[in-house]
Amino acid sequence: MKYEITRDYISQGNARPGESLNPVQFIVSHDTANAGASAYANRNYFENVDPTASAHTFIDDKNILEIIPLDEKAWHVRYEVDTDNRRYGADANDAAIAVELAWGGKIDFQEAYDRYVWYHAYLADKFNLDPNEDIVAHSTLDPSRRTDPQNALNRYGISWSEFIQDVSNAYRKYFEKEDMPEPVVKGVSIELPLEIGDEGDFVKEVQQDLIEAGFTLPRYGADGIYGQETQKAVKKFQRTYRLRDDGLVGENTLNKLKEVVGSSKPINDFPLPDGIIQRGDTGPKVKQVQRAIKAVGVSLELIDGIYGPLTEEAVRTFQSRYADLVNDGIYGPNTKEFLEMELEG
Ligand SMILES: [Zn+2]
Repeated sequence: MKYEITRDYISQGNARPGESLNPVQFIVSHDTANAGASAYANRNYFENVDPTASAHTFIDDKNILEIIPLDEKAWHVRYEVDTDNRRYGADANDAAIAVELAWGGKIDFQEAYDRYVWYHAYLADKFNLDPNEDIVAHSTLDPSRRTDPQNALNRYGISWSEFIQDVSNAYRKYFEKEDMPEPVVKGVSIELPLEIGDEGDFVKEVQQDLIEAGFTLPRYGADGIYGQETQKAVKKFQRTYRLRDDGLVGENTLNKLKEVVGSSKPINDFPLPDGIIQRGDTGPKVKQVQRAIKAVGVSLELIDGIYGPLTEEAVRTFQSRYADLVNDGIYGPNTKEFLEMELEG
């Protein structure tokens, strides 16, 4: 085994109903929506908050962390969508393993990506699946609501088909012992910017995003070739969003494009902790809450990492802005959601 798998299961509850999953027919690839949160931070969230949503495995640059046994169900794709039924004859929750890529913040993407690729190959081997057929993106199953894992992958210059190719290579290399090259993340600095003359799946995804953002490509459409028509649309997009209109798709243009088509949130200056934080708690997470509360204009004198009466009062003041929030002075997922909304707005 190239990597160790850590099995640290959460308690049974909403997130881990304990129903048996059998047999495994496919894999659904996800990324975690909260940039910068490690695999363990995600585990803590599911253990402590116990939402009716979950995934089997969270992967960052240090851990491949299984939080739900692979023979039990996790809740990761809406039952209402039917692409999973059409493709595999079953709902993802009943027949698939959910794998989440943690990314952003301090997470070393190359390290996390290597583990993510390897783990997909490991699952393909373990459950006798075909990497080219039996791995599906969450966004493919639920396109109106989800953009993962392309949201994370695209930021680092990796298209979905390149990812599948990497898994397929890893499968042959590690599990069929063929001589294959290691997957290499081309990386933003090497692969970007895209420019005239570039071709490929990633160009195509950028073109699809441009079209979705309202910058049409009437002659050639999303053909995967970065020609003059694409360049013109990119410049127009850049002017519209006050970026330098050089016609090159670099990191800024790419991030803005993802933001515009709703496929990513800009990385927040005020990262917010998951879970419940309340009076008596201390530490860096409390500081994050305090900073955010200040950033949205609630007065709070000290960022001291101590959730005392003043912090509680400040949280209560913030909560009183919204009828949907209980005025309890306790920071939890709902307060987080409204805080995030204000910080983004
Ligand atoms: Zn997902």
